[in-house]
Amino acid sequence: MDFSLSTEEREVRDWVRTFVRKEIQPLEQEVLRRERDHRPGLTADELKALQLKAKESGFWGVQTPEEYGGMGLGAVMTALLEVELGRSFVPFRFGGAADNILFQANEEQRQRYLLPTIAGDRKSCFAITEPGAGSDARNIKARAHRDGTDWVINGEKTFITGGNEADFAMVFAVTDEGVTCFLADRAQGWRSEPIDTMGEWGPAALVFEDVRVPQENVLGEVGRGFDLAMAWIGRGRYVLPARALGACERLVGMAIEHANNRVTFGEPIANRQAIQWMLADSAVEIEALRWLVLHASWVVDQGADSRHWQSIAKLYGGVKANEIVDRVLQVHGGMGYTRELPVERWYRELRLLRIYEGTDEIQRRTIARNLLKGHAGVSGTLG
Ligand SMILES: Cc1cc2nc3c(=O)[nH]c(=O)nc-3n(C[C@H](O)[C@H](O)[C@H](O)COP(=O)(O)OP(=O)(O)OC[C@H]3O[C@@H](n4cnc5c(N)ncnc54)[C@H](O)[C@@H]3O)c2cc1C
Repeated sequence: MDFSLSTEEREVRDWVRTFVRKEIQPLEQEVLRRERDHRPGLTADELKALQLKAKESGFWGVQTPEEYGGMGLGAVMTALLEVELGRSFVPFRFGGAADNILFQANEEQRQRYLLPTIAGDRKSCFAITEPGAGSDARNIKARAHRDGTDWVINGEKTFITGGNEADFAMVFAVTDEGVTCFLADRAQGWRSEPIDTMGEWGPAALVFEDVRVPQENVLGEVGRGFDLAMAWIGRGRYVLPARALGACERLVGMAIEHANNRVTFGEPIANRQAIQWMLADSAVEIEALRWLVLHASWVVDQGADSRHWQSIAKLYGGVKANEIVDRVLQVHGGMGYTRELPVERWYRELRLLRIYEGTDEIQRRTIARNLLKGHAGVSGTLG
């Protein structure tokens, strides 16, 4: 039997495709203009309005369990939807979401952190990386010590996505029992400093100086924070390459159009083999990436250990998306290098994929270790 999507999967994908085409893509020129002026592409109110529009059709809390009012979609469905969202660079995401590890909250934390985050009234950030600990996150030095019934946190975090806007951090610090995750409100005293990057959305450095949080703000168990950190990072390494896949589909579509229209030496550049091969190689890689993303997300849905397959999808997606956007820029010539087209913007944004949530080298390390230790083979999971 051929691989195919179910009717439900097609319907969800088609709805998102139409939403992106009708509601998101028309905003692109304005988003580019604002970003050129160093303003956010969408204001918080605009994002909320778009999210509510999607909610009217039931698109709210894509992976949030149904008992919390979400859609509770599985990984394959999520991947399909991310591919569609990836077709635009407008910084849109569906509302009603919360970090996976926040669902480990106890009843009191659920009321104070999880539910308001799902409702969009509170914003979180995930803070493990430090100036001295990135790929080797186990080496973090931020400390938390007990003082009566409180914990006092000291240390510095860096490159924290959403750290400028968050009103609470899921921050990881070393305690006598091991790494522990704390829910730390900004009002409890941590500060953030924006970090300027080559991308449009900058992360933050966070400073914790004697930040005092009560015992009830420990997320999960004392000393078991690293398991939570790994669960957060492992929540969906297929999501990042899925988004990149959508971007690549759109970019190659732009390259095809440009190649057919741009005439040099009396002929469209589409007639040149040099251009054709760039398009052909990109199309092959897009199809390979699609398989890797769907396969990795399918393994997640089976409840099996998906880490090996997710690392493969993330590595391939990061490397190939960067090669593809570079080719697409090349096909556009000087226009590709200008800010009139979004190609250069995608070029800068896609570069991050090779760095965060595990660099290329760390993915290769994981894949090689799995092979060498016999945890995975090269004959795949097809029965
Ligand atoms: C925009 C952005 C957003 C981010 N968001 C978050 C966030 O929300 N929360 C958070 O906690 N962190 C976040 N990060 C941090 C990110 O996860 C780290 O940057 C990443 O893990 C790499 O760590 P590092 O930057 O310290 O690089 P390093 O670990 O210093 O690595 C430098 C280079 O050495 C290579 N290298 C390292 N170790 C090995 C090895 N054993 N073998 C071979 N090569 C190796 C790396 O692959 C890399 O090429 C973000 C980073 C960026 C840039």
